[in-house]
Amino acid sequence: LTQATLENIEKTDSELQAFIRTNSDEALLQAKKIDAQHDFSNILSGLPLAFKDNLATNGIETTGASHILEGFKPVYDATVVSKLSTVGAISVGKTNMDEFAMGGSTETSYYKKTTNAWDHTKVPGGSSGGSASAVAGGQIPFALGSDTGGSIRQPAAFNGIVGLKPTYGRVSRWGLFAMASSLDQIGPFTRTVKDNALVLNTIAGFDEKDSTSSKRDVPDFTSKLTGDVKGLKIAVPKEYFGEGIDPKVATTVKAAIAQLEAMGATVDEVSLPHTKYGVAAYYIIMSSEASSNLQRYDGVRYGFRADDVKNLEDLYIKTRSEGFGDEVKRRIMLGTFSLSAGAYDAFFKKAAKIRTLLIEDFNKVFADYDVIVGPTAPTVAYGLGEEIDDPTAMYLADVLTIPVNLAGLPGLSVNAGFVDGLPVGLQIIGKPFDEATVYQTGYAFE
Ligand code: GLN
Repeated sequence: LTQATLENIEKTDSELQAFIRTNSDEALLQAKKIDAQHDFSNILSGLPLAFKDNLATNGIETTGASHILEGFKPVYDATVVSKLSTVGAISVGKTNMDEFAMGGSTETSYYKKTTNAWDHTKVPGGSSGGSASAVAGGQIPFALGSDTGGSIRQPAAFNGIVGLKPTYGRVSRWGLFAMASSLDQIGPFTRTVKDNALVLNTIAGFDEKDSTSSKRDVPDFTSKLTGDVKGLKIAVPKEYFGEGIDPKVATTVKAAIAQLEAMGATVDEVSLPHTKYGVAAYYIIMSSEASSNLQRYDGVRYGFRADDVKNLEDLYIKTRSEGFGDEVKRRIMLGTFSLSAGAYDAFFKKAAKIRTLLIEDFNKVFADYDVIVGPTAPTVAYGLGEEIDDPTAMYLADVLTIPVNLAGLPGLSVNAGFVDGLPVGLQIIGKPFDEATVYQTGYAFE
């Protein structure tokens, strides 16, 4: 199976461009080992998968799709990588992404442009576009990505597959290249909800190496996959169907919700009044944290180092000027500014207050409802090159996914249907640590 998977990637990746690199030697070696052990007690044993290139893989180049990490080989595995390898899953490669996960179309990658699995002239979404397109394009049965403001759910929506951002703290972030530490979570891409729950079963749980990982028990996430949603209380925020949402996307998602209602769920319209401030707050908080996290790429410790430098300061400046792309530089500057003494109160502190208001919006709704549903993204996948020169338009497109990260909630995207031949995502948001009910809803619909 590993051999066939690698051969198929070889054939299909000229169009999909989902992989930055494959690691056939290591993968085939591990496959042989698993064959010899003949222990398939774990359902994932022997199955090929791929990791987003911001997840550290021991001895295998990991770049975060940045020039600044070109040639960098981590000396340890991310916790999710070692958990999956322990159960016998076989990593066949590292998938393309926006540089340091900053973007929504995978076009800020230093290395290549990934295409949408349904239409190779369209973006795969992002930032985990490589993982999404590899799963949707049939290259691998599952992949991992990371989601800071929508980077699992939106590419899952654009490619018509299933993607989960778990509750903050559910999955260890150890070995994930930090973008914004208070928002980042790792999660699975799969073709079905059940597969997704099975992968989460393996990667979830407390890890002493990540002080923000939760000590809560990890339930069996497949336990509520009955197909039944009778009595489930579904809230539909009116803000998720407002200005900027493509009317055809709205119609498709409303039809999906009607189907859940027909199956016996109760559906009510609710309000999440601070939704419109989410994008502004996120871009301040995320870039502040990112500007601090990215200080470590200094040309001394990892990967790329600029030549012909005069002194240490010049080394930092030249390495960072040459090593980072425009989007990353934009965020480092925005974040450094927001955290500066003169701007902190007006920007960072205000954004932190908005974050609290967003959390309160969700708490109020979750006092009466089990899940919140709406679209994952305002549009279907757009053309490659169409939006990338307009950062503000790109940022605004994250309006429906960002609040979920700011509040630390679990969010799932499943396919709701198609508009003009392109997939539309249905987003299902749950209470903290209630991934089981989120999956229950997605499974019943699917
Ligand atoms: N599109 C968002 C951004 O550019 C989300 C990124 C992410 O979740 N990693 O920041």
